[in-house]
Amino acid sequence: MTESPVRPFAPEGDDYRWTSVEQLRYKEEGTAPFRDVTRQTLFRRPDMRGELRYFEVAPGGHSTLERHLHAHAVMILRGAGAVLVGESVFPLKTFDLVTVPPSTWHQFRATADVPLGFLCMVDAERDKPELPDAAELRRLRENRAAAAFLDASVE
Ligand code: MN
Repeated sequence: MTESPVRPFAPEGDDYRWTSVEQLRYKEEGTAPFRDVTRQTLFRRPDMRGELRYFEVAPGGHSTLERHLHAHAVMILRGAGAVLVGESVFPLKTFDLVTVPPSTWHQFRATADVPLGFLCMVDAERDKPELPDAAELRRLRENRAAAAFLDASVE
């Protein structure tokens, strides 16, 4: 018996879900650098070098501020928000495409009223994300737009 090539889109409540795709809810700890994020790996095959994931950031939530050697190719699939790429902040709406170059600080944020859902294409084999230390955060905050964006993460 072979698996069906089609796994239908099957939302559960307000969550975007796909049949037979596991949803991982990131654990939230006191010092967790993200808030209200889920991940679903949509495509991963040993004969492909890339994988496609779907992330969803709940209203008002945000992804981890991080950088790494691998790049991201992102398509916004639902909602609205903003993204920090390097020291610049960009508004996001449905179907926008975002390229995060290698070794570039990045963080996604959902607006207060709607979830931000996005597809993220990434190397299947990739390096571990690096988090900013205090000095790096100070340097990022020298940019006024970046500072305002980062301040919205602190509640
Ligand atoms: Mn990343």
